[in-house]
Amino acid sequence: MRKWENNIRKVMPYTPGEQPQKAGVIKLNTNENPYPPSPRFARLLEEMQSGDLRLYPDPDAGSLVNAIADYHGLLPEQVFVGVGSDDVLAMAFLTFFHSSKPILFPDVTYSFYDVWADLFGIPYERPALKADFTIAPEDYYRENGGVVFPNPNAPTGIALELPAIQDILEHNRDCVAIVDEAYVDFGADSALALIDRYDNLLVVRTFSKSRSLAGLRVGYAMGNPLLIKYLNDVKFSFNSYTMNQPSLYLGSRAMEDEAYFQETLRKIVNTREWAKEELKKLGFIFTDSKTNFLFARHPDYPAREIFEALREADIFVRYFDKDRIRDYLRITVGSQEEMDALIRFLKNYTHGR
Ligand SMILES: *Cc1c(COP(=O)(O)O)cnc(C)c1O
Repeated sequence: MRKWENNIRKVMPYTPGEQPQKAGVIKLNTNENPYPPSPRFARLLEEMQSGDLRLYPDPDAGSLVNAIADYHGLLPEQVFVGVGSDDVLAMAFLTFFHSSKPILFPDVTYSFYDVWADLFGIPYERPALKADFTIAPEDYYRENGGVVFPNPNAPTGIALELPAIQDILEHNRDCVAIVDEAYVDFGADSALALIDRYDNLLVVRTFSKSRSLAGLRVGYAMGNPLLIKYLNDVKFSFNSYTMNQPSLYLGSRAMEDEAYFQETLRKIVNTREWAKEELKKLGFIFTDSKTNFLFARHPDYPAREIFEALREADIFVRYFDKDRIRDYLRITVGSQEEMDALIRFLKNYTHGR
């Protein structure tokens, strides 16, 4: 080891899902939306003024903040925006988790949480999900430096109902609690209605999954204006211009086509429920996902082998070689045609051996 390496911050980075560069693959590995954003986007892209790129973007991201606040019936002071919800969550960890007590998040959850905690030197404990992969609210009653969990949880897809979320909040009045609602639009209860009652609750959302805009990188947080002020103080101590001009413009117009949004959600939920029926016929065991992905295992075939066989056939799903979940595959709900191809492959795979 070179001497200067002693002075370096060494981290174990998050591993994003593969983005195969080859055309024609069926990509069910990163929970992207199979449907494009509203056809109105074609015109918005044309209307964008390239001359605007000469200037720094609005550091307050006002147009986007206002559009999100309007959509949810909130004040702009209750909204914070970032470069995808990963940026928002990272800022939130840095801002709110500054105690010597451990923060709490589930043992099986979004695998960026422990990466940020390690990066920022935040102590953490990971209460184990129950055997059925549900969160036990009682595990979050203990003293802590903050709480964070996705609802629905990832990669399990299981949602907590509002009373259980409220139970966790009731037992955590002295720290900040973050609910990561990356998948909430696909059919779970939102904690948004609770932000007026709990001034320490931050609800985080993203345009990446339900709104088909993973490439735009827009995420946001909603909460009490004091929480949002603290978040902005950290953001402005880090980078004034997190949001680029095209993201501000397109993001601020992204919520105009509500009918299209609802239609794509409906299609994905229908395909998800159809895929559950088909997987059941093939002997798969899976959670009751309320998201745009399935979390499934087969009692007769190791998940890693199915994963590799699918990959050979240019069907990409996600496999996590981690305790408790290495028997499972996480399969994004694609279009009906993509899921037809997946089920056809799995039918052959499970019957043909
Ligand atoms: C996808 C995802 C995110 C981050 O998505 P962005 O594209 O950065 O908005 C955050 N949390 C969970 C649980 C996710 O699955």
